[in-house]
Amino acid sequence: MEDDDLLVSFGVSDAHCHPQDDPVACASGLAAVSKCRYLAAMGTRLEDWEAVEELAVREPDKVIPCFGVHPWFAHLHALDQAAAAPADPSLPAPLPLLLDCPANGKDHPSRHPDLMPRLAPLPPATWFPRLRALLERYPQAVVGEFGLDRVAVVPGTRLQPSWSHQLALTELHLRLASELGRPASLHCVQGYGHLQDMMRRLGPEGFPPKVMLHSYGGSVDLIRGFTKLPGGVGERVYFRRVDCLPPTRRFLKSTLHARAPTPTPTPTRCLPAAVSPPSSMAELATKLLERLRAAPLERLLVESDQCSPRRVDSGLRDILEAVAEARGISLEQAAAATSENFRTFYATSLERMGRGEGKGERR
Ligand SMILES: [Zn+2]
Repeated sequence: MEDDDLLVSFGVSDAHCHPQDDPVACASGLAAVSKCRYLAAMGTRLEDWEAVEELAVREPDKVIPCFGVHPWFAHLHALDQAAAAPADPSLPAPLPLLLDCPANGKDHPSRHPDLMPRLAPLPPATWFPRLRALLERYPQAVVGEFGLDRVAVVPGTRLQPSWSHQLALTELHLRLASELGRPASLHCVQGYGHLQDMMRRLGPEGFPPKVMLHSYGGSVDLIRGFTKLPGGVGERVYFRRVDCLPPTRRFLKSTLHARAPTPTPTPTRCLPAAVSPPSSMAELATKLLERLRAAPLERLLVESDQCSPRRVDSGLRDILEAVAEARGISLEQAAAATSENFRTFYATSLERMGRGEGKGERR
């Protein structure tokens, strides 16, 4: 089956991407640049939410809007007034409340006196009511992207978004998603133990109806740990892509089958990140396949995490190929299974978009 036919026939959808980052491509209409059925467009910070909203309004049959604060922007969204930038930028800013020094002590907020006025963190009254209002205005919206990232750094420094602040923000998003009965899209790079503890503590009452873990790079045992969280919480956890760097078909083929020299994977994100390179590409591919095997097939979602709709289709085909390889199934079976999972995960959103597609319906 041709690649395009595969996406169209099975209604393959992108569980996580950032198409709004390429407004030029979006302006031509998503159907003109992507065969993907639905795109869950992740908002990452207050200044990004408007673009997500606009896209969802313009493409109501294709885009599921998602609103949240990504951990890379956690330090720009304060949870108490004292941590936000003072109204008078000449006053000293309480930078350490929102940023951590690196463990090796090689940087300190005092080395960046202009940083806080430049960053100007938003006080909670500016961003949180807006987040809630958007979620309430769009009943099909999902809470995301938010979460934990142990390796994120503030560009131009070695300072990191405060870990305790990231934890507090993550809990806030999970509680909000639970209160509004929305699924949640959660980024997690390291810190999986903290996340599991939080999920256990929140319990079934304080936990959203469904949560998908994105960029999952934890151990296979941890995947099983998430799926076995007590009180039915584990049954609400889905996994997306389950790796920390994007595989490409060329990359997978070359590393798994040694057919060609290993290419450098192309970065797929527009957002700043500091991910440690894997010790070898072959090791990365092996780990990716292990994780794809460890996650239950009925909880596996495919995502491109691309910042342009032009690259969504190829990103989805790459990961479908990895799923097929890992599970020993055909590309068509991988597409059918993950599309079914998408419709289950986003069932409420699709119903509210007037697209209540029955489970098992093939488009
Ligand atoms: Zn993302």
